[in-house]
Amino acid sequence: MKIKLPALFGLLLAGIAPLKAQQINEQEVNRIISVLAADSLQGRNTYSPGIEKASLFIESEFAKAGLIPLPGAQDFRQRFATVGRKIYALDSVPADQSAQFLHNVTGMIKGSSKPDEYVIFSAHYDHIGILKAVEEDSIANGADDDASGVTAVILLADHFAKHPPERSVIFTAFTAEEIGGFGSRYFSKQLDPAKIVAMFNIEMIGKESKFGRNSAFITGYERSDFGKILQKNLDGSSFQFHPDPYPEQRLFYRSDNATLARLGVPAHTISTTQIDKDTLYHSVNDEIESMDMKNIADIIEAIAVSAKSIVGGKDTPTRIAEENK
Ligand SMILES: [Zn+2]
Repeated sequence: MKIKLPALFGLLLAGIAPLKAQQINEQEVNRIISVLAADSLQGRNTYSPGIEKASLFIESEFAKAGLIPLPGAQDFRQRFATVGRKIYALDSVPADQSAQFLHNVTGMIKGSSKPDEYVIFSAHYDHIGILKAVEEDSIANGADDDASGVTAVILLADHFAKHPPERSVIFTAFTAEEIGGFGSRYFSKQLDPAKIVAMFNIEMIGKESKFGRNSAFITGYERSDFGKILQKNLDGSSFQFHPDPYPEQRLFYRSDNATLARLGVPAHTISTTQIDKDTLYHSVNDEIESMDMKNIADIIEAIAVSAKSIVGGKDTPTRIAEENK
């Protein structure tokens, strides 16, 4: 059968039209995560020279995206001190104690119509440093945990800078998650929780979830309607956010969302980890070779799309029940 040229053209157009260009670029994912998980960063242990290198890189990416420092800050470093497991603001360290110094990397985009309402995207940039050598490799690179999440935060900063939000959006890379969540504990005290509309914490999105491609899970899914809002914004796509399939692992309380969640903020962690059988977790083999770059780009893309109505000031997730402090 002969097809007339205009008809053929129409068929081609019909085939092309439904495809929407992906906004999050896989090559960019590869570039960023490769820097963060490089051997030269020595596993990004808190207080180490390696984590300082990670910080400098994240700061340069935040600057490139066009983020501004938080109100009252001169730069992207949110500095504080620790003495043992106690956390202090820099001006309140007891004089007779020897403190250690550390910082979160934090920047923001000011909202155009609701600047006093905040949405947070976060991940932790520290990892566990150097371990006992396995086949002459002793660096715990932490590609999945949590260079993958920091990569998401950097690319979401770039994305929302290009699509200016109605609410203010804060992007933060937390320090010292692995040794006690010090970074998120300090961060959470610097803002009024009543002004924080939602927190998207991103932990380990480097590999396929147990539900396969185009899926991730949300910890504490049933504690607010955050997950339902995200899913609604994905109408017409095949991406699915699931409730946390590992409730026995208590992941809701094991990441940086927990501090703000206890204060009532709809603060959830988005992840794809198969924590029950991931043999690379906290090992020297959590390296970029095991990362699925396409999957990471797809998850970040889904987060960008699903956050649209929250960042845009149209949807406000219900609060999480506060816990005794
Ligand atoms: Zn982690």
